[in-house]
Amino acid sequence: MKILKNARLIDGTGAAPVDGATIVLRDNRIDAVATRNQSDFPADAEIIDAAGLTVLPGLIDCHDHMANHRYDLAHRWRLDEPQSTRHLRTAAVLKQTLAAGYTTVRDAAGLDAGFKRAIEEGLIDGPRLVLSLAIVSPFGGIGDAVSPSGLPLDDCCCIPGDPLLPESVCNGIDDVRQVVRKMVRAGADVIKCATTGGASSRPGHGPRDGAFNLDEMQALVDEAHALDRRVMCHALGGRGLDIAIEAGVNSIEHGTYLNENPRHLERMAERGIFFVPTLLVYEYHRRSPQPHVKARAEALYEPHIESIKRALRIGVKVVAGTDAGGHGHPANAGELECLVKSGMTPMQAIQAATGWAAECLGQEAELGTVEPGKLADLVVVSGDPLADISLLRDIKRIALVIKDGEIAVARM
Ligand SMILES: [Zn+2]
Repeated sequence: MKILKNARLIDGTGAAPVDGATIVLRDNRIDAVATRNQSDFPADAEIIDAAGLTVLPGLIDCHDHMANHRYDLAHRWRLDEPQSTRHLRTAAVLKQTLAAGYTTVRDAAGLDAGFKRAIEEGLIDGPRLVLSLAIVSPFGGIGDAVSPSGLPLDDCCCIPGDPLLPESVCNGIDDVRQVVRKMVRAGADVIKCATTGGASSRPGHGPRDGAFNLDEMQALVDEAHALDRRVMCHALGGRGLDIAIEAGVNSIEHGTYLNENPRHLERMAERGIFFVPTLLVYEYHRRSPQPHVKARAEALYEPHIESIKRALRIGVKVVAGTDAGGHGHPANAGELECLVKSGMTPMQAIQAATGWAAECLGQEAELGTVEPGKLADLVVVSGDPLADISLLRDIKRIALVIKDGEIAVARM
């Protein structure tokens, strides 16, 4: 049994913080949360005095690419270093991400199920993982890797021939259904797909250029749901965004032009579709040396912020995802600072990376809030993130990370 006492608690539900909280952990679960100090603790309990510290639920990043480290073609096509070196680089990022207070990460393609197994077996340290493996898209979509010379390579997120990162390009409803099944067979916990281009996709396939028709997307969503997998869909604007929402995906990733059609966000609110704006990656793209990428990132900035503001007004849940990977692995909590700059309160930004994020993953029964019965994933920070959200990305402020009831990192 572990007991954190004298803590300031932000529990992830959106409730006001509580001072002098006592949080009792038994095995890997939160056993009790008391809002007044107690002193009669069992003799064998491990007491952690959190005076002056803030306890939050373990943080959740709903869109990361843990196994990607740069955007250049040689790296994306896995030509630049031995696979073993790359895997160890990825293992280092997994460890660093956990140490930053992120106890759960949804990987939006590139990470294979072997990493999840290695973490579960204790071979390496890292967050709980929710895996998508690869981006399902048709010919010409963002999962279809073609070089500027026109030469295709299998899939940008895929080592050719690696059965753990299945081929993800598919066309027509039969093919789409098969690819969803192959992803699940290879260990996908969620299906990642794309119905538009993006800021960094090739010239000619931009944020409003579509991929997949409605029949294909409906087949993809139906098949994923039949296999109890949610669908996270990269979609920025135009017809492809419309098709994704119409097909009933569970989250819209990026969603930069959601506000262009007033019905988009209304339908998302009606259907409980989450919005993962991934602001951090566009800060990077606005500085891109590639003119088409920079121009797209600059053009989408204002509409993106307006989309987030309206989403919050009409009750669409906005959750935190960094889209880290290609742009390196900056502190994931930088996304929370971006969310506050786009109009969220600090409390909403914390919910976006805790309670709401767990709902986005469909794991709200186990994760995302500090409440009795939930898994004991906690992060303890020095200072008050409600007064200054940016302190969450300062690794020196992360005093303690507890995952599954075990102390993963301690700096106190
Ligand atoms: Zn992404």
